[in-house]
Amino acid sequence: MKKRIVVLGAGFAGMIVARNVAKNSPASEVVLVDKRSEHVYTPWLYEVATALNLSRSRLRDLRKTTAIPIKDIVKCTGCTNISFRQKEVVGLSTEDHHVIFADKTTLAYDTLVIALGSEVHDFGIPGVAKHASIMKTVEGCLQLRDRFEAAVEHATEQKPATFIIVGGGATGVETAAELSAFLHTRKLQRLVKILLVNAGPSVLHRFAPNMPVDAMRRLERLGVRLMMNRMLSEVKAGKAILHSAPNIPNDVRIPKEEIVHFDVLLWSGGVKPHGIARTFRLGLDAHGHILVDRTLRVKGHDDIYCLGDIVSCADDPSGRPYPPCAWAAVDQAAIVAQNICSDAPREYSLPKRFPGIVAIGERRATGSIYGFPVSGRLGFMIRRMVDLNYLLKIMTPSHAVTFWRKANRLFRLND
Ligand SMILES: Cc1cc2nc3c(=O)[nH]c(=O)nc-3n(C[C@H](O)[C@H](O)[C@H](O)COP(=O)(O)OP(=O)(O)OC[C@H]3O[C@@H](n4cnc5c(N)ncnc54)[C@H](O)[C@@H]3O)c2cc1C
Repeated sequence: MKKRIVVLGAGFAGMIVARNVAKNSPASEVVLVDKRSEHVYTPWLYEVATALNLSRSRLRDLRKTTAIPIKDIVKCTGCTNISFRQKEVVGLSTEDHHVIFADKTTLAYDTLVIALGSEVHDFGIPGVAKHASIMKTVEGCLQLRDRFEAAVEHATEQKPATFIIVGGGATGVETAAELSAFLHTRKLQRLVKILLVNAGPSVLHRFAPNMPVDAMRRLERLGVRLMMNRMLSEVKAGKAILHSAPNIPNDVRIPKEEIVHFDVLLWSGGVKPHGIARTFRLGLDAHGHILVDRTLRVKGHDDIYCLGDIVSCADDPSGRPYPPCAWAAVDQAAIVAQNICSDAPREYSLPKRFPGIVAIGERRATGSIYGFPVSGRLGFMIRRMVDLNYLLKIMTPSHAVTFWRKANRLFRLND
């Protein structure tokens, strides 16, 4: 009987594990499972949310380039030993070695790979779930785009629209910068106020030191109001309540409480491991990540690997938690695929310096590639090369290049 490897989640981590195992272990059967039919390339979601001047048919094209049918990617592998099942995972029986789906069917595995990603974390702030927009799916981003567009249409110079973006990580910065650059290019900047709210003193605080400096300078130049050292404490219809963050330096004066009226509020304040991890009865850390050893095997379960945003390794020599990033998921995926296919297990460890490259509007980016700072238009070109490099990992070269060129043509229409 063929050994069956079941991969849960066709995101960054799961897609690459499934593809590599199918290629390197032709005698095995690989089953890739996801509740969605599409693989979402999240680094392009900010382009979808800010595509204000694209027609409906171009938006449909944009959607197709950001959310790629999983079946098409599976076809691109050219392997006959891999299949895709669109099913929602609701449980796991480690005793019986099977996965349980929402439609009450089950699937037996010899080796299981859990790559179910993360969920938006609103830290229990009242009103976020009801009144804020979220950028996690293409549908969510298209909805956000429609809200931005409607607000701009109704705005006047006397009564400008207000967009609040909460969270100074990569998503918040890219969206604020792209939106603001779009409005500037069309001389519409007087119609909209963009506020970027962040709990810390600077944006992109987890990245290399050149990046927060570059990004804040650029956002200010684009007219984004940087509201640092502030925390969102409640959202009501059209009204955000902000409080000053704890432990701010004495010389920084921030009002204790501010009430800001808004037209659109985007919450990009954080993610947490997928809640389904809590139902699997595997070892978890305090935040709900599944605990693995350095070979990315689940502790106490030799036949289960886990990787990506849902995982944590207390033994990593860096002593740091794994960041919820696509590049970490992709690096881990290569290790997991090798460990499944060979008898000599390899260990994953975080790089000393995290790579990162963040778009800051007008086809510019700021970044650090393994310790080397990059910025401006060159930075943006490198960022696009990183996109292509990823697509080449999951598609044939001709598909990847065609796809990437099409996406870039659409993005340029919106610059
Ligand atoms: C807007 C945005 C922009 C980002 N930009 C970047 C960036 O520029 N660079 C970067 O490094 N990182 C970026 N990230 C982070 C990156 O997307 C994640 O770190 C990465 O997707 C993690 O990969 P993963 O495979 O663990 O999870 P995911 O890619 O999220 O994949 C998880 C998969 O599991 C599926 N799934 C979930 N629950 C179930 C279930 N119950 N049953 C079946 N299937 C299920 C999901 O549909 C999904 O396909 C961004 C994230 C967002 C939201």
